[in-house]
Amino acid sequence: MKVKISEIENSNKQERTINFSQIYEEFNKNIPVVADLKIEILGELIKITGNIKAKVNLVCDLCLKDFTKDMDINVKEFYSRNSLNDNYKDEFEIKQNSFVEDLNGQDEIDISDFVYQCIILNIPNKLVCDINCNGSEKVNEYLKKDFTDPRLEIFKTIKIEKE
Ligand SMILES: [Zn+2]
Repeated sequence: MKVKISEIENSNKQERTINFSQIYEEFNKNIPVVADLKIEILGELIKITGNIKAKVNLVCDLCLKDFTKDMDINVKEFYSRNSLNDNYKDEFEIKQNSFVEDLNGQDEIDISDFVYQCIILNIPNKLVCDINCNGSEKVNEYLKKDFTDPRLEIFKTIKIEKE
C-alpha cells in the first residue's frame, strides 16, 4: 500500500488516517498484520504515528520450537520530504530522539514497507517462547558437552545473573 503525499497535502486537514491490514507471509501466513496509522504533514516533515499489531511466527532460541509472538507496537516516525541539511538533521535527532528518513523529493510513502520495517526492528535479538522455557534436550546436551573440558570446570561455579 502506497500513500501519495501530495494528496494528503491537498486535503483540508493535511492528515490522513489509515486502517491497514495485510498478510505478510514471512510473519504469519494466516493472520494479517493490522495497523491504525495517522499521517500528518508538518511543513517539510511528515509524521507517522499509531499502532501496529502483529502475530509473528518465530523459533525459540532455547527449545527450538516454533512459537507465535504477539507484537503491539506504538510508532512515531518522521520522514523528511527533501534532504535535510546536516546541521538541521543533527539538531532534529537530538530534539526528537528519532530517526528521520529522507524521501528525497519522492511523493509517496510505502506503508507496507513502513509497517514491515517497524515489525523487524521490534523483534528482540533473543527469542524465547516463554519465561518458563526449559530449553530442548538437544540444546541442553550441547551446553553440557561444552563443560566437559576440565579446564572449563571453573565456569560451572560462576553464577549467571538472569535478566
Ligand atoms: Zn522455548
